[in-house]
Amino acid sequence: MSRPSQARLDLRALRHNVALARELAPTARLMAVVKANAYGHGAVTMARALEPLADALAVACSEEAVELRRAGIRCPILLLEGVFEAAELALAAEHDLWITIDNDTQLRWLEQTSLPGPLACWLKIDTGMHRLGVAPEQARDYHRRLLASGKLAGPPVLSTHFSCADELDKPQTRQQIELFETSCEGLSGLRSAANSPGVLAWPQAHYDWIRPGFMLWGNSPFTVPQPQADRLRPVMTLCSAVISVRDVAAGETVGYGATWQARRPSRVATVTIGYGDGYPRTAGNGTPVLVNGRRAPLAGRVSMDMITIDVTDLPPVAVGDPVILWGAGLPVGEVARASSTIGYELLTRMPMRTPRVIV
Ligand code: PLP
Repeated sequence: MSRPSQARLDLRALRHNVALARELAPTARLMAVVKANAYGHGAVTMARALEPLADALAVACSEEAVELRRAGIRCPILLLEGVFEAAELALAAEHDLWITIDNDTQLRWLEQTSLPGPLACWLKIDTGMHRLGVAPEQARDYHRRLLASGKLAGPPVLSTHFSCADELDKPQTRQQIELFETSCEGLSGLRSAANSPGVLAWPQAHYDWIRPGFMLWGNSPFTVPQPQADRLRPVMTLCSAVISVRDVAAGETVGYGATWQARRPSRVATVTIGYGDGYPRTAGNGTPVLVNGRRAPLAGRVSMDMITIDVTDLPPVAVGDPVILWGAGLPVGEVARASSTIGYELLTRMPMRTPRVIV
């Protein structure tokens, strides 16, 4: 390998994070969310690592699920967004995928389609996210129709999704939990609500199935310290190396658009990673990186294949010195905040160009 930019993946960290989720929700089953290429980590590799650790996996759509089945993944896989057309129900039956029912169209497809065998189904209730799910007052009727359809392997798992579980001082999560419990009253079936912030900070919402995604990759979904989230270990460390070092006189500028100007005689290191490798172009001047393990600020605009770092305050930096863009020692969330986005987006946007290397 010549270019040193790569996403290093630490499966020990993955196992640690799964164990933390299990410790926090000891009586719940664990569904590992591996949609969007396992949040950029590589769906097949991560699913293989997770299959022995999790009770089920979840993806966004059948294409993602079929990719995992073709790679030999045999554990249950839930389609979080349900099906997008009636024909996908037969596909779900063929590949033994669990479906979500979250609206009337999907329920009618299920009622009207003849299937080779029974399906496992989750019924999603909209308790306040207002994106997917049936209205709480309709949950009973959906539940009745699902059982009456004769298409299910058993009662549906009753599920909901939180809108603000990562913001601990907002009232919505408590309200959603209350509404979820009222909606489920008297209905048969297991229950599920907790995404990563739910697992980490809302034990009353663990129920029968937890559905963590982001935390499995070792990142905190919170913007403030949180005792459980602070125990996570990042799976992905995005690394590169210095390929050039130069002195820049006071008053000179660096990079496209001349957005960074040296206030003093400065030393600038060029690193071979850019937005073409998944590093955000929106990362502003001052965004931290680790050069030889020490923090230094981004200086100048992110290019497609390179970034420039102000290393004036560091011990001498040389070509070949290692650079960490996020991961061990530098949370992706911190880089995301300096780039006006969230860690979820930085991870899921990691392009194919960046090699994933298991370490
Ligand atoms: N459950 C559902 C329905 C989701 O859509 C997602 C992700 O968006 C998750 C669970 C996992 O969320 P997180 O990555 O915050 O754990």
